[in-house]
Amino acid sequence: MRRFAGEMDEHRQELVRLDTAIGDGDHGTNMARGMGKALEKLDAAEQADPGTVLKTVAMALVSSVGGAAGPLYGTLFLQMGTALSGQPEVDLAEWTAAWRKGLEGVQARGKAEPGDKTMVDALIPAIEALEGASDLDDGLHASARAAEEGMRATTPLIARKGRASYLGERSKDHQDPGATSTYYLFKSAEEALAG
Ligand code: ADP
Ligand code: MG
Repeated sequence: MRRFAGEMDEHRQELVRLDTAIGDGDHGTNMARGMGKALEKLDAAEQADPGTVLKTVAMALVSSVGGAAGPLYGTLFLQMGTALSGQPEVDLAEWTAAWRKGLEGVQARGKAEPGDKTMVDALIPAIEALEGASDLDDGLHASARAAEEGMRATTPLIARKGRASYLGERSKDHQDPGATSTYYLFKSAEEALAG
């Protein structure tokens, strides 16, 4: 989560630029502010297990980020945190199951299907990569690569969910901002947890 907050801060302008092209330009500021708030909450909390950390971040995002992405990332982390509740250590199967739960939450809330040009298009290939992985390290590397490919594959798509869908055909030839932040999430997990 600290690593992800760092990435959101570092890539704020890139995410703003992507969201300016097909949305309202706030995705980078939304995510950087929300993860900044999340870090404040984590700093104030006791040293906690992974489930509690994820739930703390979820609450901070939901209460501090407006727009689509705050509640969607909030749901992702809340469902993941619930899935990992009470487990001080997490293996590949548990990690993968937590992401599945998170994805289910995002889809229940936002109703996005694969190919709608949303964060779901980075989440699904990444989770499938986890499901095909041989061990946690392999999964962390493979899911980051798959999320990156999923992110890039949003470029030719026509948006069917969220603000970008108002543009119809004109949403083509732009990479989706939410899929981009989701790639940074998997990259953060890889960098923080692999090895
Ligand atoms: P807003 O669109 O309200 O300004 P953000 O700019 O922070 O919110 O986030 C936009 C991103 O949210 C999009 O790029 C997309 O990936 C994601 N998104 C929007 N609507 C949905 C949805 N219904 N399901 C999944 N993801 C969505
Ligand atoms: Mg926006």
